[in-house]
Parts: sequence; structure tokens; C-alpha cells
Amino acid sequence: MRGAVLEGLAPDGGLYLPEELPSFSPSEVESLRGRAFREIVDAVTLRLFGQEVGVDAIRRVAREALDFEVPVADVGKDRTVVELFHGPTGSFKDTGARFLSRLLPVLQPDPDRPVLVVVATSGDTGGAVIDAFRDVAGSRAVVLYPKGRVSPVQLHQMVVAGEGARRVRALPVRGSFDDCQRMVKAALRDGELNERAALTSANSINVGRLLPQVFHYFHAWAHLPGPGNRDPVISVPTGNVGHLVSGVLAWRMGLPVSRFVAATNENDALVQFLETGSPPEGTSRSTLSSAMDVARPSNLERLTALFDEDLHSLRQVVGARSYTDPETLEAIGAVHERWGYLMDPHTAVGWLAMEAELKSRTDAPGALLATADPAKFPDVVERASGVRPTAPPAWGLDAPREDTGPAIGPELEELRPVLTGLLET
Ligand SMILES: *Cc1c(COP(=O)(O)O)cnc(C)c1O
Repeated sequence: MRGAVLEGLAPDGGLYLPEELPSFSPSEVESLRGRAFREIVDAVTLRLFGQEVGVDAIRRVAREALDFEVPVADVGKDRTVVELFHGPTGSFKDTGARFLSRLLPVLQPDPDRPVLVVVATSGDTGGAVIDAFRDVAGSRAVVLYPKGRVSPVQLHQMVVAGEGARRVRALPVRGSFDDCQRMVKAALRDGELNERAALTSANSINVGRLLPQVFHYFHAWAHLPGPGNRDPVISVPTGNVGHLVSGVLAWRMGLPVSRFVAATNENDALVQFLETGSPPEGTSRSTLSSAMDVARPSNLERLTALFDEDLHSLRQVVGARSYTDPETLEAIGAVHERWGYLMDPHTAVGWLAMEAELKSRTDAPGALLATADPAKFPDVVERASGVRPTAPPAWGLDAPREDTGPAIGPELEELRPVLTGLLET
């Protein structure tokens, strides 16, 4: 585990998966019902990391990293929305980024070899990683984002979180998210960079970010609506498939789930893959749920590996559904009108997928993982519902920021000098 989290990417370019997962008995799972997020985190972290990292150390990591609430809203009969967006930057990405930022120094205590985190973002990872790493001594973090393809609030958050911090940097790239991701993989494998720093990624290609996301699923299960003996349908707004893999890991650890439904926008690589069994091709399209604009999800190989490359058994547990922007807008409006509940566009895609899935499983309760605060996408939400969501004052949106400097081309040669420069600070 230590090696996998520190390196981010296996030497052969593949993605690590835990060799052994702890397993929870039905009564152990049951004992989590109704408990607070903090308590669930405590119970699950101990089992995941206690032996390797030490009980006291991992408790400190968890308490410092995950100091926010995860409220659960009942929206309609037998539907629960799990609000994973109450961390500092308003998306579920805060969980993994903050946990990893506190875990890495524990795993790599050598002060002479700085940890250099290189990350690609299609939006929310950027702010979460910069915010999480800015005050962690001994680490540097660089975030690559596709210029012009992240929302104004996401851009604002990356800039604000980086202000006054010398060890973190957000870098615009002339290209797509997939280009950014390719650059990260190239940097992680680069000999020269690896001589100077302990390189890793805080993308969902790093298993250290996927493992803490397992808490979300235990928490969702612990707060299901209605009678307690029914296995839920869990809907996951999906882009790079990382969050979904965390769900499958939770299921492997013994969490009873009837079915996962991966909700995608028009970038429906996963839907196509589940239908045909062939890895998707093509490039990503821009949509209103931009954090899910991923054409070739890198965690697909993890997902299939978890089912021993057997498409049939994967399909028993995981379904996928795709929705257009007009459908997304309509869902935001309809849910607001019917229940007075505001959803961001990613969560709205998840809502549609959950509703569709529950049509054929009427006895199952539904849990929807709400991945972002609607206030991160105020224009879209207002257009759909007529209501402009208010952002937490801590985001500082009354003084919006825009620019992070000139963009670089999508090649490692252009990235390398930025990374070496940062290592010299
Ligand atoms: C990153 C993100 C997703 C997709 O998560 P993956 O792990 O990439 O599948 C969905 N919604 C929001 C708001 C996100 O930021």
C-alpha cells in the first residue's frame, strides 16, 4: 500500500489496486448504521490503513483531513442524497485530496526528497488538491487543467487556494483533459524528475485517493431511508470512473449494495464499454457537467480488473446511463420544483440515472452521491431552476479571480521546467 500511494503509477504504467482488502462482516456493517461521518471514517480507516501506517498515525491523518460534515437529505420517498460537497472547495474531491495530503508525509518522512504531486484536472480536483497541499510542509503540487474548459468558480478556487503559497501551482494547458492526463503519466515516468523528487499523482490514478472515497459509500449505506433490510441502488456521477471504483472496493469489503449505477453525460464511454466490451475511443465533448467530460476514463482498467476482466460479472453489479445537457437542466428544474432541493449539474445526471434504475427495482432504496455544491455552477443552476444558489462566504466569490498566467502546450518538454523550478523554491 505504501509503495502504491507514494508512486501513484506502477512501473509498467498500470494502476495499482490493493492486493488485500479488509472485510466487514454483516454485523460490523450494521453497527455503522446511523453513525456520524467522523465515526464511520474512524472505523473504516483503521481497517484499511491501521496495520501498515499505525493506529495513532492514521487516526491523526483522518481527523485532520476529514473535519467536515457529510449531511444526508431525503428527497422524495426512499431517496437519499448524500452531500459530499461540504469540504473547503465544495466537491467530493476534497475527501481524497485532503486525506492523501496528510497521508503522504506519514508515508514519506524523508525531508531531503520532497514529494512532488502532479495532477490533471477537468475541474474540481484542481481546487481540492491546491487547497489540501498548500500548507503541507515538504510537498509540492502542480495542477494541469485544460485552458477554457473549467468553470469560473473552479478556476477562481484554484487561483485563490494558490495565492501566497509558493509550493503549489495551477497551470493552464492548451489541450483537453485527456492531454493533461497524458502529461501527468509522462511526468511520473520521467527519469530526470524522479531523481530529484518523490513523484506521485493525486489524480484518481493514485489509489491513495480512491481508498478514502470508500468512506462515502459506507456513509451512504449507514443513512439509507426506510426499513433497514434492503440493499440500495447507489448512483454515482461518473467521469474518470475513480469514485465508482471506490464504490466497488466498498462492496468488496462487505458493503451490501444491490447495484451501482454510473451516471454519465454525453461522454458515455462507460455505457459503451459495458455494452460492447471494447475500450472507448474518440475525444471528449464539453458539457454542462464538465468534471465528467472524460473520453477515455483511466480507471476503467481498475474496474475491469476488480471483476477479473469478466464483463458479465461486472454487468451484474454495475450499470451505466448517459444523459444530455437538456435532460440535465430539466432534472435540476423538476427536482427543485417538486421538493425545493437544488442540485448541481453532475448530481442532476446522477439523479436521472438513479430514477431510471429504481423503475426496475421498486423495492430498493436509492442513494445518490451528490458530488458538487450547486453554488459551484451558479449560472447553470439558475438557468434550470430560476434560483441562484449562494456560495459559502469562505470561497471569497465576491472578488472573483480569473487568470493563472500563460498556457503551456500539451507536452512534457514544456512542463518539465515548471516542475524543476518549483522544486527549487
Ligand atoms: C470529478 C467529479 C466527478 C467524476 O468523478 P470520477 O471519479 O472522475 O468518476 C463527478 N462530479 C464532480 C462534481 C466531480 O468533480
